[in-house]
Amino acid sequence: MTLRRELLGEIRSLDEHELRRLLIFARGLLVSRHGVEVPDRAPKGSVTYRQERVRCGREGCTTCPHGPYWYAYWREGGRLRSRYIGKELMRTSPS
Ligand SMILES: [Zn+2]
Repeated sequence: MTLRRELLGEIRSLDEHELRRLLIFARGLLVSRHGVEVPDRAPKGSVTYRQERVRCGREGCTTCPHGPYWYAYWREGGRLRSRYIGKELMRTSPS
């Protein structure tokens, strides 16, 4: 499958901010469809920690994206699961 020529032209005309949004959008699609962010060769039960910037979706927000925040990713029964951890990977206060 190839990308339509017009679509590529539109992508070329995007400014940096729009390109970043497109990246985040595309990555989100990939993760939800295939879970590509976690390598398939990862041992069963292993957890991958990633820092991600998050868009709040508020109209006119000038500080987007927010973060980075830590997320844990792991596979459970063939499905990619994720959990929000927070700004710090290691909690310094007892939970
Ligand atoms: Zn925001």
